[in-house]
Amino acid sequence: MVYRDEYFQDSFFGPPAVARPLMVSGAGVHLTDIHGRRYLDASSGPVVANIGHGNERVADALAHQARTLSFTSPRTTRHGPNAEFVARLIDLAGPPFDRAYLCSGGSDAMEAAVTWLRAEAVARGDASRTRVISCRPSYHGGTLAALAWSGDATAAAVYGPMAVPPRHIPAPLTYRPAAGTTAEDSARASVSALESAISDLGPENVLAFVFEPVGGVASGANVPHPLFFTRAREICDAAGVSIVHDEVMSASRTGRFLAGSHWADARPDLVALAKGLGAGYAPLAAILAPSERVDALAAAGGYTLGHTYNANPIACAAGVAVLDEIREEGLLGNAEVQGNRLRRGLESLMGDHELIGDVRGRGLLLAVELVLDRDRRTVPPARMGLTDRVRAAALDHGLLIYGRRTNDGAFGEWLMISPPLVVSGAEVDELLDKLDATLRSIRQTMPRESKPEGGQSP
Ligand code: PMP
Repeated sequence: MVYRDEYFQDSFFGPPAVARPLMVSGAGVHLTDIHGRRYLDASSGPVVANIGHGNERVADALAHQARTLSFTSPRTTRHGPNAEFVARLIDLAGPPFDRAYLCSGGSDAMEAAVTWLRAEAVARGDASRTRVISCRPSYHGGTLAALAWSGDATAAAVYGPMAVPPRHIPAPLTYRPAAGTTAEDSARASVSALESAISDLGPENVLAFVFEPVGGVASGANVPHPLFFTRAREICDAAGVSIVHDEVMSASRTGRFLAGSHWADARPDLVALAKGLGAGYAPLAAILAPSERVDALAAAGGYTLGHTYNANPIACAAGVAVLDEIREEGLLGNAEVQGNRLRRGLESLMGDHELIGDVRGRGLLLAVELVLDRDRRTVPPARMGLTDRVRAAALDHGLLIYGRRTNDGAFGEWLMISPPLVVSGAEVDELLDKLDATLRSIRQTMPRESKPEGGQSP
């Protein structure tokens, strides 16, 4: 068969800034394209392929489930893989989360979390609570409401008028603090904006504060100062506002199953998870909730929204195998060990590469921020297309990297360096060598353009 360009999903995206290789197979942390070229998957796709490619346990589970029971609806029936998956999920998540509502992707999990909170508020007579507060920058999904919560000015310009606007507060950024000079200043500015937003909107009108405990692509793996979690919880408690952690990307990656569990004071009301739950083998997502609240709402009429593929048996069977693999192969621990090795390696690359302004993140959710001038933290101008140039050069060196200039570069631009959690020490070194070679090749094309005048400084 002839593969015509228009048959591919990416024909909707417009001309590619970076070539998109046609992949035919994957094994572990590597992918192979149609020409037999091998690439190390440095970002697990868009931070999804957590247990690597071609996993036999998951492949067997998918085939077995497809042959045994491919579909039956949770509205009218029950099936074993649903219970098997949720039992493992709540065990990994730990208290207070002992219930899970299953979804198919991150956007619908975030929407389920907020609509669930809305149903709960109405059921308990708190019907004025409709407003959502979120951070800028942030990303919560590509459906209309989730897009609106996402703090991305470019998307907001197009889709913003179509959704109820959320209130955005500055994210607690560590590298480009919203105010002052330290990560703590930034966290203070963020929570003080949260407090003002709640008081402006009227506490009785605010339903939820949603944020990523460890950032994803929108902030380049930003890890907030601990004060952010403590104060956000206090402020939300005082106003009766629920906190939703968006762990669509961060779950399983930071050395613990839930990234939020690194901070004792974080205590989210609900958590949304997606990407790594199905790990690329099946569309699978969840919201975690405590049973007292689920049962109270169920008794008052229940949560009745949902989608046809929620709790799909094949997706659940894949999820069971993914979570077993995570547990039995010690992948949460490996994320910490290899994450530390990778971070040290990236930091040492800073010695040779002025382009690396910051290395941040936790475990194997890491990002490298690209700058033109490290001292001034100069954001490269859009016309340089620096991230795309690095990604294109990386492909030539056998490295597949995810990274995009988001928010029109208002907060900088970065590469996600988040390989599958099965990565070995030798593969971390391979990634670092390839990134080093990539940045060396980029540097040769830089001197003419590397003057900071065109960039944005903090
Ligand atoms: N939240 C975060 C933090 C994400 O990274 C993403 C996906 N990049 C989403 C929500 C939306 O998930 P999905 O693309 O599966 O709908």
